Order: sequence, then structure tokens, then C-alpha cells
Amino acid sequence: MVTSITHPDQIISIKIDHEKCNMCENCLDENGKFCPKNLFYKDIVKKVGREEEGIRFKFKEISKCQGCLKCELSCPERAIKPVKFEAEI
Ligand code: SF4
Ligand code: SF4
Repeated sequence: MVTSITHPDQIISIKIDHEKCNMCENCLDENGKFCPKNLFYKDIVKKVGREEEGIRFKFKEISKCQGCLKCELSCPERAIKPVKFEAEI
């Protein structure tokens, strides 16, 4: 497989839609199958009208993110949305 090293996907943040998330916890898998850097964790989050357990991205560790987009592709509810850096051409 050829991957571009001149134009890697640079992730500047990861957004999680707490309303879509069904708490399947696939993204908390520590063996790296979901996220090779294990960048998701469980926390209390605000949902519409209530506070509940939800998933958060380890924003402090964003420098570890490889931009592989596995998280976006693997979430069964499509609740994870990587925000990519858009370079102006
Ligand atoms: S994989 Fe998606 S639906 Fe499952 S807990 Fe993580 S964010 Fe929620
Ligand atoms: S893009 Fe890859 S490394 Fe970054 S959070 Fe998603 S699965 Fe993890």
C-alpha cells in the first residue's frame, strides 16, 4: 500500500456526537484495533437536557493521533468525526 507522506491527513480535533453514540464502547478497546493510539475515554458528558456517561477524545494527546481515520470508519453510529486541517492552496 502506498501512502502519501507529503499530504498526510492532519487531524486538528475529533468531535463526538453524544446524541448518536450508543455507548457500544468499541472505541475504548485498548488493544489498538479501533484507535491505534487508544485516544478515547469514558466520561460524564452533556447530552440534550441531561448529563450521562459518554465518550470523549483525549484532546491533550492529540499529537499522538496518526490521522488514520480508523475511528471515523469504525464507529457503528458514525458518531466520531475527525476535523481535518484544510491547507489553503
Ligand atoms: S464506537 Fe462510536 S457508538 Fe461506540 S461508544 Fe465509541 S463513539 Fe459511541
Ligand atoms: S485518526 Fe486514527 S489515531 Fe487519530 S483518533 Fe482516529 S483512530 Fe486514533
